[in-house]
Amino acid sequence: MDLRKKILREVEKIFEHVDEISAINTAKVLNAMRKLKVSDAHFKTTTGYAYGDIGREKLDELFAEIFKAESALVRTQFVSGTHALATVLFGILRPGDELISVTGEPYDTMQTVIGWKNPARGSLKEFGVGYKEIALRDGKVDIDEIKNAVTSKTKLALIQRSRGYSLRSPLTISDIEKICAAIKAVNPHCVTFVDNCYGEFVETSEPVEVGADIVAGSLIKNIGGGLAPTGGYIVGRKDLVELASYRLTAPGMGNELGASLGTPRLLFQGLFLAPHVTAQALKAAIFAAGIFSELGFKTSPLPNENRADIIQAIELKSADNLIKFCRAVQEFSPVDSFAAPEPWDMPGYTDKIIMAAGTFVQGASIEISADGPLREPFTVFLQGGLTFEHAALVILHAAQAVSNIDGQSELPHNLSD
Ligand SMILES: *Cc1c(COP(=O)(O)O)cnc(C)c1O
Repeated sequence: MDLRKKILREVEKIFEHVDEISAINTAKVLNAMRKLKVSDAHFKTTTGYAYGDIGREKLDELFAEIFKAESALVRTQFVSGTHALATVLFGILRPGDELISVTGEPYDTMQTVIGWKNPARGSLKEFGVGYKEIALRDGKVDIDEIKNAVTSKTKLALIQRSRGYSLRSPLTISDIEKICAAIKAVNPHCVTFVDNCYGEFVETSEPVEVGADIVAGSLIKNIGGGLAPTGGYIVGRKDLVELASYRLTAPGMGNELGASLGTPRLLFQGLFLAPHVTAQALKAAIFAAGIFSELGFKTSPLPNENRADIIQAIELKSADNLIKFCRAVQEFSPVDSFAAPEPWDMPGYTDKIIMAAGTFVQGASIEISADGPLREPFTVFLQGGLTFEHAALVILHAAQAVSNIDGQSELPHNLSD
């Protein structure tokens, strides 16, 4: 608890900045809800085809308003973020088209969707969609190379905002602006598509405002505020969102069907809480960086570095530390605290992966969770935190687990007692 106080003093100014962003985003969401006259009539459940579901329509309008987009598709029928992202790609791309990833290797689950590096049945590759990837240069997006690689043939450019589970820096909104401008300068018709996972509400503007044509993400990360039980969203240009809607449902049906089955209030209320919950997760990440830097571990970002997503990477130096860390996170989770995570051979990964997630919504990474591959330098990726108070307990417990093994620094009090 002494260490907690010390670090909290050190990060005071940074926390103030996070609160400032949360205040602006809370006002943004509130204003949208007032302007669009959200009412409890919109929380009623619908069944069957759900034609004329006013709650579903209102939620789409609300997302469009908040993201400053022409149109939105917010649905629990998306099973995850990957599903929403894949729906955009399959909705827009046609055989012979070319897709380019301008932020290096995309997130793991996108590899089977694309199919070029990790062949999979039903992938874009199988449908005859070409693929190019621009490698990062010194961990940064290579704008010059974008200008070379994007051609008049390039139909869609994939831009990943978050670091995902890599050690590159996440993109700021200003980075996204530069990338979109570079793409459009070469080919104004190339669709700029942002994978917005883990990025929502970390800054005060969103990708559509700086040149993204279409954006997609998960509802069990930032934007669901911890309440959304499942789902994904797409926002952007009307014609593009419409194309995606035909892939989610069926050509001709689009966004006009889809029962809400009791979820609407959770989606509206989760959105309302999302700026605050994102701030809690950001504070957790900053606090973790502070504690682990103090204990001599390399962290990315550093405690005082600018943040563009909610992920905190910590190099734990040994497999033992990584396992202890994840077990400590699990032990201090409100759900499944009695389970001990084990490293396992996850499909599609070369090294064993260990994951901790004692979450109310299965696998929701806006709730505090940690994972990492068992390979040098044994980096753990920590993200989420519905309340900072809980996240701080988890982080201190993990710090204690790891520092005890090393025999380096003993924390003042044994928190696990
Ligand atoms: C979480 C995430 C996704 C989607 O993952 P799901 O587990 O399918 O929701 C895609 N891209 C990035 C960068 C992510 O962080």
